[in-house]
Amino acid sequence: MNPAEAHWLALEADLADYLAQKGVRPSCRAGCAACCFGLVTLSRLEGEALLPHLTGPQRSRLLGEGPRRLALLREGKDDPRFPSRFFLSRIPCPLLEEGLCGVYPWRPLACRGLLTQGDPRLCEPEAGLRKGHFLSAPWRMARLRMERVWEEEKRRYGFLVLGELASLLYLLLSGFPREKEEAEALLQELGILGGRWGFQVA
Ligand code: SF4
Repeated sequence: MNPAEAHWLALEADLADYLAQKGVRPSCRAGCAACCFGLVTLSRLEGEALLPHLTGPQRSRLLGEGPRRLALLREGKDDPRFPSRFFLSRIPCPLLEEGLCGVYPWRPLACRGLLTQGDPRLCEPEAGLRKGHFLSAPWRMARLRMERVWEEEKRRYGFLVLGELASLLYLLLSGFPREKEEAEALLQELGILGGRWGFQVA
């Protein structure tokens, strides 16, 4: 099993315990998908854990959407306002299907850690991000799991690749280099390496 899958399951259990202990009832519901218009970042290992679960149509959508995402990242990676501009443009995650996550059991840690018990209307891009709207503890729990996946990725590959969800999955489907120098060269050539929101190689 890809270690990311174990962390997905472990985070679900941790979150269920936390929410039960604290008596927190998130208002997140099936069909409520405003957060799926935002920028989601994941690492190569998490992306590789997701790939085998993709359906044919999901692969096709990612292959179709990838070049547009790369162009957006190339243009916006140094802009501090890029995430809010992207969110407001309401470009849906290519894995969103009729308002539902099409890879729900295999969705990234970043998606799992974003919960609110507030008014779902405040999740909409036009509402602006209000401090405290999203629950901080679930996000921290997800972040700690991400860091453990990153460490595993560094052990496995010798380096870590972090990038925007649809772009990263597109690159993995298209054949991503195994070696660090080649990976950096490809990302540099695509114009999406570094900057504030571009791909990170560490
Ligand atoms: S992977 Fe699923 S939960 Fe995450 S942004 Fe995409 S559709 Fe939404």
